This record gives sequence, C-alpha cells and structure tokens, in this order.
Amino acid sequence: MARDNKSERSLSSNDLQRILDTVADVVILLDSQSRVVWFERSAKTTFGWKRNRVVGREINRLYPFSKVQLPFDHALEGVPLCLPMRSGETRCFRLEVVPFSKRRQLLLLSEHGKQLQTEIRQREFVVNASHELRTPLTILGGYLEQLVSQEGPGEWRRPLEVMSLQSERMRQIVDDMLLLSGLEQAGERAYQESVNVPELLYELADSYSILIKKRQQRFNLEVDQHLWLRGATDVLRSAFSNLMVNAIKYTQKGGTITIHWQSVGEGAQFMVKDDGPGISAADQQRLTERFYRVDKGRSRELGGTGLGLSIVQGALQAHETTLLIKSELGKGSRFYAQFPENLSIVKR
Ligand code: ADP
Repeated sequence: MARDNKSERSLSSNDLQRILDTVADVVILLDSQSRVVWFERSAKTTFGWKRNRVVGREINRLYPFSKVQLPFDHALEGVPLCLPMRSGETRCFRLEVVPFSKRRQLLLLSEHGKQLQTEIRQREFVVNASHELRTPLTILGGYLEQLVSQEGPGEWRRPLEVMSLQSERMRQIVDDMLLLSGLEQAGERAYQESVNVPELLYELADSYSILIKKRQQRFNLEVDQHLWLRGATDVLRSAFSNLMVNAIKYTQKGGTITIHWQSVGEGAQFMVKDDGPGISAADQQRLTERFYRVDKGRSRELGGTGLGLSIVQGALQAHETTLLIKSELGKGSRFYAQFPENLSIVKR
C-alpha cells in the first residue's frame, strides 16, 4: 500500500539547490537594467563572485562578463559564450534567457561538455590555419601564373602549369574551409536581408554560360519573378552556385540541366535537375560529409574540393532549410531546398 510520506512531499533547501543544479550550471537573476538581483551559489565557485560585491551591479561590469561586453538578450542564445577565467583558461557556456517577471530575467548558463570545447578549439584552429595559409598561397599562385605566361614551350612549361593549377586548388580548398567554418559557427541565424533570388539566379546562370556552352548542355531556368527570400545574399549565392556548378560539372556533354524557383506548398522551393550519371543510395547518404566524393579522380579533374555540398548544407541550415536529394544511378539527380513560409517574400 502506498504510504503518504510527508517528507517525500516537502522540499528542503538542499532539494531546491539540486533542482537549480539540474536546470543549469549557473543561474543569475537580472533586473531590467541588467543589474544582478540574485545568483545561485555556483556562480561563486565558477566566477569567484561574492554576494556583497556583486548584487546591485550591472553584469557587464563584473568579471568575466566585463571582458566580453554583450547584450544579454535572445540574440545570444544558441551561440557558445566563451568567457576568459582568472585562471587563464577559457570556459564556454550555452546561454538561455528566460523572462522571470515583467522586469526581470533569468540567465541560465550551461557549460559545454569537454567534447564541445575541443570542437570549438579545433574550429578555431582550422580558421586560423586557413587565414595563415591564404597569403602565402596567393603569392605563390601569382608568381606561378606569371612564370607560366612567360615560359615558352620549354621543358618547364608543363611542370609550371601543374604547379599553378595545384596552388589554385589549394587556395580554393582554403577558401571553402573558411566559408564552411563561418557557416558552422553561425548555425541557424535570423538573416534579415530581402534577397532578390530571381536576379541572383540570372546572374549565376550568366556567369556559367561559357562553361555551359563549352559542355554543349541545354540549360533551362524557370523562375518565379515575384518570389524573394528573407536571408543572406552571399550565403544563398554559395548554396545555389554550388548546386548549379555540380549539375554542370557532373552532367555529360550535351546533357540537360533545369533550375526551378517557385512557390511550393506554403514556402519557396529551389530545385536543380540534371540528366547526369545519378548517385547511388549509399553515396547519397554521405554526400554532405566534408571531402566526400563519389569519384575522387573525376572531382579533382573538374576542380572540386569535396566541400561544395557541405557548404550547401551549412548555408541552407542557416536558413532553417534542409537539402533533399533524389537520384538513381543512370537516371540523373534532383537537389531540392524547400524554404519555410516565414522566409518567403512575394513581391507584387
Ligand atoms: P566536389 O567539389 O567534389 O564537387 P561536392 O561536395 O560538391 O564536392 O560534391 C560531392 C560529390 O557528390 C562529388 O564529388 C560528386 O561525386 C557528387 N555529386 C554532386 N553533385 C552531383 C550531380 N549533380 N550529379 C552526380 N554526382 C554529383
């Protein structure tokens, strides 16, 4: 028989503390002026805060927040908040801002696991290494290009051409890595530009017209002139251009490529269709992995870095959109991006 145990129903201060510990690592209550009203005792161990020195002071004047000077609102949510500690280490937190009463809000800070901290460091390393590599590669590429144009049909012509091509490849990989880590860092973000997608697609098609002609392909562009998007023009340009270039590159000479930009359901749909070689179901699962290529040799020959579809995925994710692939070996491929209603703009 269940016993009505009173101690099971009452809460001790220890229980309350445990509840707070479960909710977040650090809990801070702020007033409407971002002054600290109350903080949970873990802030004492984490930040070395003392109640009499902290309560009533603006959070941005208190260490370690004084080092980052951020507005504590929803804009910070989802972005890792990395704070420099007095010990010299950096600790990263996930931040949630919860309205507490009309004029007060709770800050909930949960420390990222060790694995995430390592990932953040690795990402920083990739960004720094890419930046460092960019300048020497540009200089090297410039000199090689000059040498190629000056060298006659001598024995060095071919090796110089290969070196120039390879340095261009390296520069492209470094640029793609920078673009990708920028997108990963941004995550899902509320981009607010009004993007003229029809104009963007015409501009891209125009820039690939020489390549399309060279490959004797048929290129159909079916665009709803009134359909725009709320987002970031540069990020969307990367997504659309990678999908278009892939269709042109991997479709055989004389093939057909069709681009659709139209309203579908409640939102807007971008679709690229080709009658190229198609992609097996097993390969489709791995296509958006970094550096994954179905045919390494062919991708290299066509100047691919293996990062194109990872960039597409990152760019679409930043617009609350996922990439859908429909393909069968020997039957061509279709790549879809279905943008949600809240990002679609109909211009009349
Ligand atoms: P890459 O730089 O190699 O083109 P991507 O990430 O853009 O890298 O694409 C990954 C791989 O997916 C390519 O190497 C290619 O094998 C395959 N792929 C991409 N688009 C198509 C397509 N339209 N038709 C056939 N295969 C494709």
